[in-house]
Amino acid sequence: MGNTSQQVAIVTGGGSGIGLAIAEKFTKNGIDTVIVGRDEEKLKTAKSQLGDCCHLMICDISNLGSIPALIKKVIAQFGKIDILVNNAGINMKKDFIEVTDEEFQRVITTNLCSVFAMSREVVKEMLKKGNGSIINISSMAAQYGLPRVIAYSASKTAIDGMTRAMAVELSPKGIRINAIAPGFIETDMTAKALNSDPERKQKVFARTPMGYMGKPADIGEAALFLASDAAKYITGVVLPVDGGNSIGF
Ligand code: NDP
Repeated sequence: MGNTSQQVAIVTGGGSGIGLAIAEKFTKNGIDTVIVGRDEEKLKTAKSQLGDCCHLMICDISNLGSIPALIKKVIAQFGKIDILVNNAGINMKKDFIEVTDEEFQRVITTNLCSVFAMSREVVKEMLKKGNGSIINISSMAAQYGLPRVIAYSASKTAIDGMTRAMAVELSPKGIRINAIAPGFIETDMTAKALNSDPERKQKVFARTPMGYMGKPADIGEAALFLASDAAKYITGVVLPVDGGNSIGF
């Protein structure tokens, strides 16, 4: 069992993109950080980059039945969980009428049901020590209407509602729940969504007052802040980190 004074975090999807940047901020600040994903090679590469405070666990979180065992494994190794970042997610861009029930369900299971199941199992542990911080990664797709991402929009809008519902129920018990709504951030996911669609890319820049895309590290900074004592009176918020995209004209 690990040193109980050292903070312990789980970052789902911590092997790449935004999750990797969050894990980098955490590990640089001495937080033992368990990165979770499906691709072992990706996680190993991330660990070699992040060093000794980074630990990896392989789990397909869309397999909801595997989540309780994952959390038990983290507890067996570290003794507690202080921070959970529900970051792992998938996108699917397709015309509304072309989306099958299976495709819709796949996105909802990965982006939403897993966030519920992860949070439920982690909250059981956080309640034992009476504190903790959970950060859900939302999206601009929950702030305004985006065409051709119906399942993704449904999942991220539900994340915002769940963040508020969890915050009112769990904050009195010492657990803060917040979300970050990233704007358009330079990762593989955005490259896939925008590079093949110049019109969409143009729209993104046109309504982003700062005029450029964010970096994964910008989300890392916000996550570190929300996880820290500096944010001890903040719960239930969905914080846009978006260069003004959500309020852009
Ligand atoms: P990436 O595709 O780079 O990263 C997604 C991560 O999630 C991967 O590391 C992947 O790991 C992991 N993942 C996906 N499915 C599963 C699964 N079933 N089980 C375990 N891990 C899984 O995307 P981003 O970094 O761009 O996105 C991260 C989050 O930020 C997502 O929730 C996304 O919706 C959100 N977001 C991103 C924005 C952007 O501009 N990039 C904007 C708004 C929100 P592996 O392949 O190893 O399973």
